[in-house]
Amino acid sequence: MALSLVHKFDQDNVIVEKLDNLLNWARSNSPWFFQFGLACCAIEMMAAAAPRHDLERFGAMPRASPRQSDVMIVAGTVTMKMATRIKRLYEQMANPKYVISMGSCANSGGPYWQYGYHVLKGVDLVVPVDVYVPGCPPRPEALIQGINELQRQIREETPLRKVS
Ligand code: SF4
Repeated sequence: MALSLVHKFDQDNVIVEKLDNLLNWARSNSPWFFQFGLACCAIEMMAAAAPRHDLERFGAMPRASPRQSDVMIVAGTVTMKMATRIKRLYEQMANPKYVISMGSCANSGGPYWQYGYHVLKGVDLVVPVDVYVPGCPPRPEALIQGINELQRQIREETPLRKVS
């Protein structure tokens, strides 16, 4: 019933707008992230989740399964060996899903970009990235800013109008 009602509204209107706002408010305040790290950047990610910075203030908490995660934070060096694993784990996450690339290694290969034959030159070669966090390593505050940016992007989505 509710879905058929939504189907009637493929244009902006007050009902769909309010439902979109409600869904986006809920989704943007629960960016549960997949708990895994690849290299030194993961230590900063752990620090961001620890009590001093307390990521759960923003509703972001670590999950140990891709099935329960909305956000994949790629924290560290993506080797060729790990690239296929990352892609597989990404595909196991439910939609809608998001990726934060954390640090120079995940963004572009970092210090390995020129001679690191074993390192992927950017995780966006295997999964779509929504937010890039620069730095080597980025401080926990930078990751928090990246998560805030992702929340802003989610709040601007129109999930109901994607229904066809
Ligand atoms: S960006 Fe720097 S700190 Fe992060 S994984 Fe690469 S070398 Fe380590």
